[in-house]
Amino acid sequence: MLNNDDSIIRFERVNKWYGRDFHVLRDIELEIRRGERVVVCGPSGSGKSTLIRCINALEPFQEGRLLVDGVALGAEGSAQDKAGERAVQQVRRRVGMVFQQFNLFPHLSVLDNLTLGPRHVAGLPRPEAEAQALAQLERVHIAEQAHKFPLQLSGGQQQRVAIARALCLAPQILLFDEPTSALDPEMVQEVLDVMTELAGQGITMVCVTHEMDFARSVADRIVFMDQGQLVEEAAPAAFFSRPESARAQQFLAKLH
Ligand code: ADP
Ligand code: MG
Repeated sequence: MLNNDDSIIRFERVNKWYGRDFHVLRDIELEIRRGERVVVCGPSGSGKSTLIRCINALEPFQEGRLLVDGVALGAEGSAQDKAGERAVQQVRRRVGMVFQQFNLFPHLSVLDNLTLGPRHVAGLPRPEAEAQALAQLERVHIAEQAHKFPLQLSGGQQQRVAIARALCLAPQILLFDEPTSALDPEMVQEVLDVMTELAGQGITMVCVTHEMDFARSVADRIVFMDQGQLVEEAAPAAFFSRPESARAQQFLAKLH
């Protein structure tokens, strides 16, 4: 066990079902340290997206407990009372998320996409929200596109905007769900480069990705999921050279 100061995310025997019968997360136990970079991998349908969506309270779960930067998310039911609602709001302020499909608003300029949350959620006045948004756009090397609309940008640029947007609420944790899977191959690297830069800046990152070169060079730890279970976790060097479980061995064999 890590001591509490080190731990920023802790799943305690989390179980989740979709509907009554589909047991999508099974007894998940996972602890992530502040500043750690974790890559989650595993076959399609193994529960990776569901797992990380629990971290920003996009998905409820039915059993167990999840601690996110000191805030406790309880099993469904407890989340419906006032304290549960407050916990969800607190967690969303601490966690930024980047999706496969960017999820930018097409009718808003890049700048307005970035200032929406800070202005309406955090109550920041427009000039401050815009100054901050520009700073985040600079961080992903795209400030010159601030006044364009998302569809005037390439996929790689749109995803960098989405990353800047996630950074605008100054999150403690950044979640990525296959951020390069929807991109044309020639645009993957610019997004991975930005993610690698962020990884060097101390923010806690949990990233679902099949980009194994990125995982090898950036992750502190690889978590392998299969059929709703967390099957294996290891440092990248160990995971890639000698995976322990047969399921991880099969998964890696298919990637080559
Ligand atoms: P992964 O990200 O590893 O591909 P997901 O977490 O998206 O896996 O999904 C895990 C399983 O749960 C899949 O079998 C998927 O079809 C199912 N699933 C995902 N979302 C829902 C939902 N909203 N309702 C019912 N089943 C779902
Ligand atoms: Mg997924």
